[in-house]
Amino acid sequence: MDYQTPSIELRARVALEKYRFHKTHSLGQNFLLSEALIGGLLDAAALSPEDNVLEIGPGAGVMTGLMARRAARVLSLELDRGLEPVLAQVLEGLDNARVVYQDAMKADLKALTGAAFGEGAPYRVVANLPYYITADILLRLTGADCPPDSVTIMVQKEAAERIMSAPGSKQWCAMAAELQYYGEARVLCEVGPEAFDPPPHVTSCFMRIDRHGTPIVSPADERLFRRLIRAAFAMRRKTLSNNLKAAFGLDAERAQAVLQAAGVDARVRGEELTLQELCRVCDALRA
Ligand code: SAM
Repeated sequence: MDYQTPSIELRARVALEKYRFHKTHSLGQNFLLSEALIGGLLDAAALSPEDNVLEIGPGAGVMTGLMARRAARVLSLELDRGLEPVLAQVLEGLDNARVVYQDAMKADLKALTGAAFGEGAPYRVVANLPYYITADILLRLTGADCPPDSVTIMVQKEAAERIMSAPGSKQWCAMAAELQYYGEARVLCEVGPEAFDPPPHVTSCFMRIDRHGTPIVSPADERLFRRLIRAAFAMRRKTLSNNLKAAFGLDAERAQAVLQAAGVDARVRGEELTLQELCRVCDALRA
């Protein structure tokens, strides 16, 4: 046992106490502090010494510190500047870990990852996410023009179920369609509320989404495809034709012509379509 170097968990507990840090519920500040638990999560994430890691929300930095010990570099984006003295103390001496105090929903991800890892260098996202921005941040990360090779994240169990849902099912939604377009998702393990400080009122899942090596669909215009996915699910009770009219300003005749060209039923609802069908509609819309 190394008695010289205090554990990262101990450093975090001491720093939180020393700086009298008060967690903010509205920022999703449910921290993971147990080194044993986080070590297990990082084993499941298969983090390796070559990995460049982007973390959203380091909190008190236990996961950040443990990742810095296992990976090549860690760049963390934290919104709460109140954590600055805590993180400085917890990550002291870990020169491959860097924290940038910015809102992950607004930060220039391409510039930040390029500066931290090298322009165009591969990187992974590994994070215990703030749940209030789960969908928005996942879509932002995976839809960026410098997307990560994989995203390994803690999410609410219901969000994991939606992300893994099948077309036509009750849970199939724009987030699921966009994330399945990005990659292949699987749950690594379930994590109970007691793992967090303070415990949330929900069960969580640690899950991994690996970017497809070969895209499963190839729309001619990727931006339009993402717009179409969001439009298709915008008003769930309406037909796709009505959603197309509302989102793209089409008249009834043009909307019907698009669906016919794509080979889908004129009365279909957006949430009934597979990614392949949505891709055909997108290409017909563009023609
Ligand atoms: N990763 C840490 C852990 O496992 O203990 C903290 C996780 S906590 C669930 C979420 C963290 O995200 C908090 O530190 C919170 O301040 C931060 N956060 C919330 N909204 C954010 C945003 N928009 N951009 C960056 N960080 C954010």
